[in-house]
Amino acid sequence: QKPVPSDIVISRSCVPKPIDCLAREVGLMSDEVELYGKTKAKVQLDIIKRLQAQPDGKYVVVTGITPTPLGEGKSTTTIGLVQALGAHMKLNVFACVRQPSQGPTFGIKGGAAGGGYSQVIPMEEFNLHLTGDIHAITAANNLVAAAIDARMFHEATQSDKALYNRLVPLSGGQRQFSAIQINRLKKLGIEKTDPTTLTEEEITRFARLDIDPESVTWQRVLDTNDRFLRKITIGQSPTEKGYTREAQFDITVASEIMAVLALTSSLEDMRLRLAKMVVATSRSGEPITTEDLGVSGALAVLMRDAIKPNLMQTLEGTPVFVHAGPFANIAHGNSSILADKIALKLVGPEGFVVTEAGFGADIGMEKFFNIKCRYSGLRPHVVVLVATVRALKMHGGGPTVTAGMPLPKEYVEENLPLLEKGCSNMRKQIENAKHFGVPVVVAVNAFKTDTEAELDLICNMAKTAGAFDAVRCSHWAEGGAGAVALGQAVQRASEAPSNFKFLYDVELPIVDKIRIIAQKIYGADDIELLPDAQQKVERYTKQGFSNLPICMAKTHLSLSHEADKKGVPTGFILPIRDIRASVGAGFLFPLVGTVSSLTSVNNSFAVPRPLRDELRKLINHR
Ligand code: ADP
Repeated sequence: QKPVPSDIVISRSCVPKPIDCLAREVGLMSDEVELYGKTKAKVQLDIIKRLQAQPDGKYVVVTGITPTPLGEGKSTTTIGLVQALGAHMKLNVFACVRQPSQGPTFGIKGGAAGGGYSQVIPMEEFNLHLTGDIHAITAANNLVAAAIDARMFHEATQSDKALYNRLVPLSGGQRQFSAIQINRLKKLGIEKTDPTTLTEEEITRFARLDIDPESVTWQRVLDTNDRFLRKITIGQSPTEKGYTREAQFDITVASEIMAVLALTSSLEDMRLRLAKMVVATSRSGEPITTEDLGVSGALAVLMRDAIKPNLMQTLEGTPVFVHAGPFANIAHGNSSILADKIALKLVGPEGFVVTEAGFGADIGMEKFFNIKCRYSGLRPHVVVLVATVRALKMHGGGPTVTAGMPLPKEYVEENLPLLEKGCSNMRKQIENAKHFGVPVVVAVNAFKTDTEAELDLICNMAKTAGAFDAVRCSHWAEGGAGAVALGQAVQRASEAPSNFKFLYDVELPIVDKIRIIAQKIYGADDIELLPDAQQKVERYTKQGFSNLPICMAKTHLSLSHEADKKGVPTGFILPIRDIRASVGAGFLFPLVGTVSSLTSVNNSFAVPRPLRDELRKLINHR
């Protein structure tokens, strides 16, 4: 077998077809497409209206066993599968994937365009700025952050009247409320539209949000891992008169605005979600929203292009939507609802839309069903669960690996007992998918050191565990041709009866919902609510947020809360340290165990596989 060249060499050896040609091929009209150069385009949302009557295609979600540092290849399999379905089986097809953050791209993880002969191209466009959506989120997020601190400063240093005049400035000799301000007055029970008629007491109530500085949950963001910004002190210029505050930078994709982008269903819905985002609490315990700050309209304007999905292509010329990339811990880790909806219309009833859910099935897939499908109303036909020999061996007790060092022999030589033991993790993740009533196809992503007996063992174990089918695939080394058997299995599974159901009723109390996920999906005996979490349950229930779905922020490296517990841990109580709310995006996120700084700009420039090495090659290439 010929050696497979590096990802960037493969990516650059293929000349992408002009994106306007691809747009025509998939049935887009020229006025529905906005070109961003020759290889990327945005698609306008009007198309949903034009194709309203068109029945949807089949909806497939790609997920995986519990991730290990050895990599499972979910993105690679997503792309390999659409190449098989589209370029080889000649079906209409779309892949819908997340836009990667530059944090992981330049960190340990590397890019996310897939790999080998199954990639989105051009991979450097995909991995870097794309069409600027992440920059738009950074701008919108930081506008909110600036508004919070400016507001607290002005309230601390100005009289009620001066504040009022600043909020409702004279324009042409008159003061006028904006629509947002009239809404705020209504919320305060003041039914007035003429700024000159407010009483002094009403002016005070209107002008002061009285934000408790300790309660601010909104952080500044940046799409770069800059560890020295993890904790900062703001307000140190003399102009801020000593109003300093400790704050932090998060990575942009952890912004609630990213989760809003991924979960929204229209421009109007996005505007409403952006306005509902809670950024702090007032001293009297009221939630403070971006609408209260008066910036929600500006946020929608900043996000007006980001809401349109980005069209790209695979190495074999099949279409891909790259849209939104929320984190899979403090958010739900799935690409956008809008891209899936448009793609399902474009492929038509016989076609396939394949999307990917981040992390393992216990996290990305559970959130795909319970959060994304709940908001979109879309019903999946098939789950593809990616497994690899080497990762399952680690779940069976194989040694840990050190980046930059050769792999221990367990992973490169046949070892059936270790593999068989590790298959317990796959079995549990198959069971997890079956809780939702959707057929599961296991894709065994083959590496060149895997043996026939090992690949057969996984397939047999998967079928015994209740998978609809299990097939080995070689799309990394061979492109779509290596995933035709997978494509055929997915096609058969999509015709099997599917009886989709959610895991829990959102109307259940917060604690019950968390317990159901912990017991049914993670295999915990029970949950334990620590004091901060208990307090938040009470607060969110009082504030009316208890009927939101749950988005667990748990380590992705184990089914339990302890990253080093591989396989299927049992006999544990899941500790819930705290609970936060993303009210605009529409979920509550419990922080499980020690999971904490995953959102911050915290990955140092570490070791292997980083895109920067690939980029260095790219520069030499030119
Ligand atoms: P995930 O989506 O699960 O994080 P990716 O699809 O991004 O994983 O793949 C991780 C890395 O592993 C990529 O660099 C990819 O090229 C590589 N990879 C995936 N499958 C194979 C394979 N079968 N053989 C060799 N390398 C692979």
